[in-house]
Amino acid sequence: MDPIYSNTAVSPELMTRLRAMPKVELHVHLEGATDAATVWELARRNQVTLPASTLEEWQSMYAFRDFDHFIEIYLLAADCMQTPADFAFMTERFLAQQAQHNVKYCEVFLSASILLDKLPPAEVIAALAETIRQGEATHGVQLRFIPDISRQVPDSQYRVLEFVLAGQEEGIFIGLGVGGKEIGFPPELFTDVFAEARRQGLHVVAHAGETDGPQSIWGAIHSLQAERIGHGVRAIEDDQLVDYLRQSQIPLEVSPYSNYRLKVVPPDQPHPIRALMDQGVYVTVNSDDPPMFSTDLTSEYVLLARQGFSWDELWQLSLNALEASFLPDEAKAAYRAEWKTFARA
Ligand SMILES: [Zn+2]
Repeated sequence: MDPIYSNTAVSPELMTRLRAMPKVELHVHLEGATDAATVWELARRNQVTLPASTLEEWQSMYAFRDFDHFIEIYLLAADCMQTPADFAFMTERFLAQQAQHNVKYCEVFLSASILLDKLPPAEVIAALAETIRQGEATHGVQLRFIPDISRQVPDSQYRVLEFVLAGQEEGIFIGLGVGGKEIGFPPELFTDVFAEARRQGLHVVAHAGETDGPQSIWGAIHSLQAERIGHGVRAIEDDQLVDYLRQSQIPLEVSPYSNYRLKVVPPDQPHPIRALMDQGVYVTVNSDDPPMFSTDLTSEYVLLARQGFSWDELWQLSLNALEASFLPDEAKAAYRAEWKTFARA
């Protein structure tokens, strides 16, 4: 039993419809979307020792005490990913998973600060470019990457930017992000690199207001001019910020299961996405690190249905993600037509 708050029974028909609903995902990490069995396989392949003697034991370590513990496990998993071929393999598996949830397009984070410590940038870009080209044909899922800076490694920020610019030329990287430990590493540390990224025509997004409070979101808006906020749920603690977000319609990339699993939201409380949406804030639904949080994109929508969201509201959330994506206008229009076809069926 999932001990997470719910007040509404969801019919099997609605679950089936939510799975079939076309989706766009804007906040998901490639490394965190790699399941325990794949990490285990990569560890063996690359002779990396994990602090577990069986796959089951490794899997059981995905019960996180808090955000710092999650980062610890995330870094152990990332350590098993050692070659460009590993990243291609993970991307292919990820696309197959996304196809099962009828995800048509996704913008995916890559933990570039960590990756660049061990991998040749040009080879990674070539491997990823080839995989997403093939993956689009095989699975019908389009993918673009947003490499991000790990805040706890601020020294890596210009190397990450250089990497993003190289992948932008290949057409597979579309923006720069910042993630990792929010407390102690505020957005202001990255003001200049974000300004440079914007000058170079990159989109910019930032995790903020997850483990840290509203001031972190204000920083992401004012110092980084983030076009979307990753999580942002702690905006709810600041009325002025909620007002600002309503007026500016800066989208929040909300990941409900992630917030429950990392104890950002208590399990017996409804998720604050309800209150944010009711106050006119632009919200979207995402899975963040799905196998690490025992979720997937369909389950995120089902959870909201269990918390009383109507079909129309869930459908609107799906449209919100499409509209808040960085897809070029023409591509967006084509998907819009697909969404309309689904709605009429
Ligand atoms: Zn995230």
